[in-house]
Amino acid sequence: MSNLTKWSSIFNEMVDQFGLLQTREIMSAWAGLKVARIGLKQNKLLVLKEKLAKLNLHYQISDEPVFARKDIGKGGWSNKFEERPWVARKNGDYLVYVSNDVKSLQKAFNSELEGEEEEFGEKLGIPACCIDFYSKNLDKAYEKQNDFVPLVLKNTKELHSFNFWNNYVSQYFGYSLLSFFPCSFNCVESARFAQNTYDLINSILPIQASQIIHFQKQPILYTEYRGIYLFEGATFSNESVYLEDATLHATVPSNSRTLDKILNLHSITINSKDKLSFVDNAGVKSIIKSENIAFCTFK
Ligand SMILES: [Zn+2]
Repeated sequence: MSNLTKWSSIFNEMVDQFGLLQTREIMSAWAGLKVARIGLKQNKLLVLKEKLAKLNLHYQISDEPVFARKDIGKGGWSNKFEERPWVARKNGDYLVYVSNDVKSLQKAFNSELEGEEEEFGEKLGIPACCIDFYSKNLDKAYEKQNDFVPLVLKNTKELHSFNFWNNYVSQYFGYSLLSFFPCSFNCVESARFAQNTYDLINSILPIQASQIIHFQKQPILYTEYRGIYLFEGATFSNESVYLEDATLHATVPSNSRTLDKILNLHSITINSKDKLSFVDNAGVKSIIKSENIAFCTFK
């Protein structure tokens, strides 16, 4: 078996066991792009350790599990940890730090332990401009669900059709090259980070790499509490996105009332960052203005 075939088969198994996003993190650590930090349930730690040994990777596991508080309307995704001493440890997530280098691993582990966010961010390979943006907006994001989408949009100069490499919003649908919030949807540094990650994944798991790119090019309607919607195959011209030929992906359950409304939409027009015009299939127009929505298109 060639080396490439060997790595491909190990990483393919990992996609099944841990999902594509966690596998991306391990692969990046394996290639020396960064120190990775993933969260895993106790019952998956053993399998992970076996895989890490095969990949010659070093790791350190947190002594105590953390408990993620699920965001509302985001398909089980979580952006916040909380203390829950009354919950069984096996239901928490253990943080696993992974690196191909012992020293970097130690430094990353210690800097997070000591709350040195910036140094920890550097070890994770996050560009300085994006770390700075994150630190400055941490409190603001935490007031809601600790999600940065509206803040990133606000910090993006342009109104629509952003650099698709920076579409981290597609992470809610299981596909993304970024493990952090970019400082803007047109940040050059984070786009470069995403391209490097793409090159790496493409060399080992080319099918998954092209799936990620495909999803990163789709427009996404983000709402803070009423779900996130990805319109696969939508067409756009100028400020308007037409949904008739699009396949809808949503993070909310199928009985959601908002989902019903979205399914009945014909088009969405971007008036400004916090103001959108919706036209439904009967031609009825409604306008929504809110700081809790963000419509992001990418090319
Ligand atoms: Zn940046």
